[in-house]
Amino acid sequence: MPELPEVEALRRGLEPLLKGRRVIDVQVFKPKLVSSKSNKRVEDLSKVEEFINGITGETFMAVKRRAKNLVFYFESGRIMLVHLKMTGQMVYKFGDSQVWAGHPIELSHSQLPNKHSHIIFTLDQGVLYYNDTRMFGYCLFFEDDTVLDEHFQGLGLEPLSNDFTVDYLANCLTKCKKGIKSILLEQKVVVGLGNIYADEACFAAGILPIRSANTLTKTEIVKLHAVIMDIIPKAISAGGSSVANYLLADGTSGNYAHYHKVYLKGGTKCQNCGNILSKGKVAQRTTVYCLKCQK
Ligand SMILES: [Zn+2]
Repeated sequence: MPELPEVEALRRGLEPLLKGRRVIDVQVFKPKLVSSKSNKRVEDLSKVEEFINGITGETFMAVKRRAKNLVFYFESGRIMLVHLKMTGQMVYKFGDSQVWAGHPIELSHSQLPNKHSHIIFTLDQGVLYYNDTRMFGYCLFFEDDTVLDEHFQGLGLEPLSNDFTVDYLANCLTKCKKGIKSILLEQKVVVGLGNIYADEACFAAGILPIRSANTLTKTEIVKLHAVIMDIIPKAISAGGSSVANYLLADGTSGNYAHYHKVYLKGGTKCQNCGNILSKGKVAQRTTVYCLKCQK
């Protein structure tokens, strides 16, 4: 699934295309995608009505990002939140030009709409499609920021926010016995790091992903904080890491994958020490680490 740098790159690509565009019509073909964010989603037709009525006639003002979500702001202050999850894609089509963002879906290149087009926004210029092959993603409507804040309750800090300090991180970690990678994946302390950047951050900080958070020394926490602050902006500048499930809005790929040191590299040589990288599972996710470089 796209992580913070990838979603941020998509946001930067989509905003200039959508800003000022008015929504003429909204069609929802899969009610569960607008009903809730829960994995066991039931169709809620009142949510469909709210989604369509809330967005029709609105004008896109800004595209922001919170954690791994795209947050579309309309002129009236109303909001549409989109989480692409594993296989979601947004395509903006205007005349002969098409702009893709998210999971590459082959069919979308030759046919739009297609069987994966579950939500269609007809705009005053062009059409915006929400396509999703496995339908893990969602698009939700919020009346304003206050309701949106409730949706985000329990989420940790943005890593690039001023509040994400060494002291904050230390305070969170010293109280927690869970493994450090699990904590990063959970999003309750800091948001935006998924499997790619959690593995890369643990490696860069020299910390084994399974280390209990409360065993980290102050020096290690300082290091972990520093590497998160280093990796995330670098990955954003590179357009994120394109690994099978995402394309930038201009259809190109992000190239941070060239800088990966451990992600998907289990069984190959550690770039630091030459030791063979180990592979295991943390929170059901494949995890790669170096037993020599990480303690
Ligand atoms: Zn090593």
